[in-house]
Amino acid sequence: MPPRTSHPFDSLAERFAQVVADRLAPLLAQTAPRRGPGRPPGSGAGQKLRGRKLDMRCRYPGCKNKSKGPRFRFLCADHLKLSKKDQEAALAKWAGKK
Ligand SMILES: [Zn+2]
Repeated sequence: MPPRTSHPFDSLAERFAQVVADRLAPLLAQTAPRRGPGRPPGSGAGQKLRGRKLDMRCRYPGCKNKSKGPRFRFLCADHLKLSKKDQEAALAKWAGKK
């Protein structure tokens, strides 16, 4: 197999790629901090934060009350009065639904 000599087009393409890269680099650096054009300000990050917020609803099936949070196993004041067994059953049901 004869050694492949460098084709003139290869170096031309290489130079072209280099020129394009040199031209684009400053443009990319300029536009990068803007995080994509056309996005309405505030909508993206805000919604993401809202989505990550804890689901504070009571875990008891059908209960519309707000729970007292993770330290209370996400049960509302009413359902915290239930026996541990009933709480467990409610939590198991809630986990199964997910
Ligand atoms: Zn409840």
